[in-house]
Amino acid sequence: MSTFKAPKGTYDLIPPDSATYLAVREAIAAPLRDSGYGYIETPGFESVELFARGVGESTDIVTKEMYAFETKGGDKLALRPEGTASVLRAALEANLHKLGNLPVKLWYSGSYYRYERPQKGRYRHFSQVGAEAIGAEDPALDAELIILADQAYRSLGLRDFRILLNSLGDKECRPVYRAALQDFLRGLDLDEETLRRADINPLRVLDDKRDDVQKQLVGAPLLRDYLCDACKAYHEEVRELITAAGVSFEDDAKLVRGLDYYTRTTFEFVHDGLGSQSAVGGGGRYDGLSEMIGGPALPSVGWALGVDRTVLALEAEGVALDLPASTSVFAVPLGEEARRVLFGVVTELRRNGVAADFSYGAKGLKGAMKNANRSGARYTVVAGERDLAEGVVQLKDMESGEQVAVGVNEIVAELESRLS
Ligand code: ATP
Ligand code: MG
Repeated sequence: MSTFKAPKGTYDLIPPDSATYLAVREAIAAPLRDSGYGYIETPGFESVELFARGVGESTDIVTKEMYAFETKGGDKLALRPEGTASVLRAALEANLHKLGNLPVKLWYSGSYYRYERPQKGRYRHFSQVGAEAIGAEDPALDAELIILADQAYRSLGLRDFRILLNSLGDKECRPVYRAALQDFLRGLDLDEETLRRADINPLRVLDDKRDDVQKQLVGAPLLRDYLCDACKAYHEEVRELITAAGVSFEDDAKLVRGLDYYTRTTFEFVHDGLGSQSAVGGGGRYDGLSEMIGGPALPSVGWALGVDRTVLALEAEGVALDLPASTSVFAVPLGEEARRVLFGVVTELRRNGVAADFSYGAKGLKGAMKNANRSGARYTVVAGERDLAEGVVQLKDMESGEQVAVGVNEIVAELESRLS
């Protein structure tokens, strides 16, 4: 152990568990890649102001959770706490919305940082895969994203997750609801901070996790009853498309993303095996965000799925991913001449696309065979002086235990044909 440890609220991804994380990222990305989403990567930090405007001044993320700092040059920056604002900023900066057909469909994968109280499923450094579809208002697009997230989770073998769905209305109907909700909240027995929140951002009060607050919210007006006809029709269409795709969901009239530029469709993926950190992902429509950060009107929809919590969900369900061994062939030389010959064989295998590894360091046969076993390789190639004198190496099938002598010059072709 060294003098140093990973910072509070963080953990290292190390083999073999790290392979699961890579596989989860890959499983979430695959359906996106197959659906016209292009990969985007943005910096790990941005101007503080982008998040203040793009996530919202009154959100916990901005007021409490942001790693903000000033550089030596006087720039006010923050480690990114989420992906949407950066992706939209980058798309606008590159004029992607002017180049071709809308929507611009993008996916991303990376690290995010929030100064939170660390606990299981809640870290200060975590990882998300996300998708954004920018510049189109079409219920099929909202449905597409929900269906693709469902497909990703199912492809991983997850079953005990639920999709919660709601509509937040638009700039026609939400203000009317907002006022009604504010009236209701003012009549409750709430602490000062919550009352302030009720003033600035009343919808977020619905999201309060405290029991005493939730009890008082039982009779609160619901957005569902205030939706205008256009929003109702839009939401109905999203619901029908998802249903037709065989994806089940639950209507959750209290599900909110309490920012003014979040509109209409909003959804969350929750997993029942995760205790209080049950949200594995969330998303929705954010028709007003582009204008909030100085861009043109660009109705958009997206989601972000948490990789860390998805891995915890796999553990909770006892799903072991079927991860193929990364090494197919392991070479074990006995003696100097064999080292040179087998190192050459390994190099050639690798150049031909066969995953191969080698017994490094001065090891006896027993230690080397242990390494071969641990590597998960299907085949081991062993050679000593006597083999080489006969122009052969020993090829051992680790599954059947069967061993045969193969000519040194034939071994690469033999392995390639056995593994293809
Ligand atoms: P929560 O209500 O649990 O705080 P959130 O609403 O802040 O979640 P989002 O901003 O919607 O979460 O982020 C999407 C996903 O990213 C979450 O569903 C979760 O899987 C993951 N996530 C968010 N914050 C963290 C964190 N601190 N540690 C690990 N994963 C996180
Ligand atoms: Mg949070």
